[in-house]
Amino acid sequence: MTKLDQATGDGDHGVNMARGFSEVVKKISDADYQAPGEVFKDAAMTLMSKIGGASGPLYGTAFLRLSTICKDDNPVDLPVFAKALQAATEGIKQRGKAEAGEKTMIDVWEPVSNYFQEATSLDAGKLVETAENAMEATKDLTATKGRAAYFKERSKGAVDPGAASSYYIFSALAEVLK
Ligand code: ADP
Ligand code: MG
Ligand code: MG
Repeated sequence: MTKLDQATGDGDHGVNMARGFSEVVKKISDADYQAPGEVFKDAAMTLMSKIGGASGPLYGTAFLRLSTICKDDNPVDLPVFAKALQAATEGIKQRGKAEAGEKTMIDVWEPVSNYFQEATSLDAGKLVETAENAMEATKDLTATKGRAAYFKERSKGAVDPGAASSYYIFSALAEVLK
């Protein structure tokens, strides 16, 4: 992720993600939760406070939206999680003032959310495939948001770092859904 961010940014995305998510692991390992939403909320707050870069508030917003939809102690089933992912994707878009096609993490979150909206049962393999294809497709895009936008046409040819980290997040989700 850092290597990708060296090509189209300031080369810190891997470091940012490692710092933020290891703090999340620390935070949630020590706590006792009644509902999935509480886990998402702690993750959101930790990401926002521990990641200095653009990705902190963006992932923070995404996890906060997940927390508001998965708020009670009911199990998070497919329709609930689909709704939560849609809200999270909208949250990233609003926070980043960006849309799909601008070579950002949105280019992974939106197709994955769409996959969940249409899915009638959970298929971990299809989830990974959707996220991977979406990440790969960011190679051909020209960045118009974030630091990568300064590279203009030269941002083409490499995967967006935030699309890569989002792919890792959804791969991890697929692992636990198997
Ligand atoms: P910074 O650019 O501040 O160093 P990071 O390197 O941690 O932050 O994160 C960069 C990633 O954040 C990009 O690869 C992209 O996916 C995402 N990003 C940046 N700006 C935006 C935005 N306005 N909307 C959505 N995603 C964005
Ligand atoms: Mg960076
Ligand atoms: Mg930075």
